[in-house]
Amino acid sequence: MRYISTRGQAPALGFEDVLLTGLATDGGLYVPESLPHFSLEEIRRWRGLPYHELAFNVMYPFVEEAIPADDFRAMVKETYSSVFTHDAVAPLVQLDSNEWVMELFRGPTLAFKDFALQLLGRLLDYVLERRNQHVVIMGATSGDTGSAAIEGCRRCEHVDIFILHPHERVSEVQRRQMTTVSGDNIHNIAVRGNFDDCQRMVKASFGDQSFLGGKTQLAAVNSINWARIMAQIVYYFHASLALGGPDRSLAFSVPTGNFGDIFAGYLARQMGLPIAQLVIATNRNDILHRFLSGNRYEQHGLERTLSPSMDIMVSSNFERLLFDLYGRDGSAVKKLLEDAQEGPVSIEDYRWKHMRKLFDSAAVDDKATCEIIREIYQNNEYLLDPHTAIGVKAARECRRDNSVPMVTLGTAHPAKFPDAVEKSGVAASPSLPGHMADLFQREERFTVLDDDLKTVQNFIAEHWKYA
Ligand SMILES: *Cc1c(COP(=O)(O)O)cnc(C)c1O
Repeated sequence: MRYISTRGQAPALGFEDVLLTGLATDGGLYVPESLPHFSLEEIRRWRGLPYHELAFNVMYPFVEEAIPADDFRAMVKETYSSVFTHDAVAPLVQLDSNEWVMELFRGPTLAFKDFALQLLGRLLDYVLERRNQHVVIMGATSGDTGSAAIEGCRRCEHVDIFILHPHERVSEVQRRQMTTVSGDNIHNIAVRGNFDDCQRMVKASFGDQSFLGGKTQLAAVNSINWARIMAQIVYYFHASLALGGPDRSLAFSVPTGNFGDIFAGYLARQMGLPIAQLVIATNRNDILHRFLSGNRYEQHGLERTLSPSMDIMVSSNFERLLFDLYGRDGSAVKKLLEDAQEGPVSIEDYRWKHMRKLFDSAAVDDKATCEIIREIYQNNEYLLDPHTAIGVKAARECRRDNSVPMVTLGTAHPAKFPDAVEKSGVAASPSLPGHMADLFQREERFTVLDDDLKTVQNFIAEHWKYA
């Protein structure tokens, strides 16, 4: 399998290089040159498989030229049979006669990002061991990605990880999930600034890596990394097989920020899984919903909401969909996105109509988020986190056919976001699951640094493994 850039200029790469590269050199994102396709017959044979075996079957075509089957099988098995706390890995909970939540928060950091980052850590270490190489992961986080990346890389021999978070601007649960993980290769930096300041320093460092003295290189773990998308395709197959697929279509509603998770659902459908409907669920940061409703792609200022992991102005993975909508014409994508920097853009009517056939969408504000948390708690005694709540609400708004099972992706555990639960006025306060019950007693390790590129880069240059 070769991977090509959505902007059409960068060289095609194999899986290993795509894993280690962030953005393509032309500023685009890597996508597979062609997708594997599974017949209904083949998918049917996967019924009843444990999660890790299903995961191997779905993902192997993407890596087969780079990794021998036995090695990949072992990594996937270790990932999905050890660190997730529910035997089903991604259990389905029924809300109403034909309505479900797929709980993707049974991993170590209680959000769906564990599905990809647990595997990514293992893949990186495997490839680096083989190449006798080392990388420094540098990332900025406003919460969930940082902790999942740290958990995913804590046992890596060949990776140092530096995560920048805005000092005193992430929730205590989120901070502790990052700073209480022990390991010589884990470095938490609290920057005296905001999330954008952190992200700016990460971008600048990727652009000019000379501060590392040529002895190691940076690697990215945000969702522009193809391997993360790949791992997320699996649970769409898992849900389908659990609910009568592939002999029956399913609908999915996906709480969306960077468009990574729902793009994986789109790929699952392209690969042959019968999916009747894909709902893009956004909060007030609703650029995608506005584009789908009115064919006007326009950036607004960032709004702070009760669902912070979806507080994103521009969804980077949307570029991967645009690439397909434009018949894989990289230069057209490049032009469109450059124009979008300057002001609102529209696309040709037939392309826009095609996109509306592929997706439905809804935007849900904080008030409606709290209402649906309350309603589901009253009717089902089930507590939703605010992100999942947006998914459930959007699912109900957009549903086309009640006979098709509707599955909302449960992206986080409610204990991660106690504020929203409290604001919704339900009489329950979510408690942390057993494996994290002592989170507030654990020792924290982090370094507070000024919002200054040189200071942060010097810290990294002095603290990575072979510095
Ligand atoms: C990251 C995240 C999202 C958004 O996922 P994307 O792949 O960026 O669209 C939604 N909910 C939670 C809890 C998250 O952590």
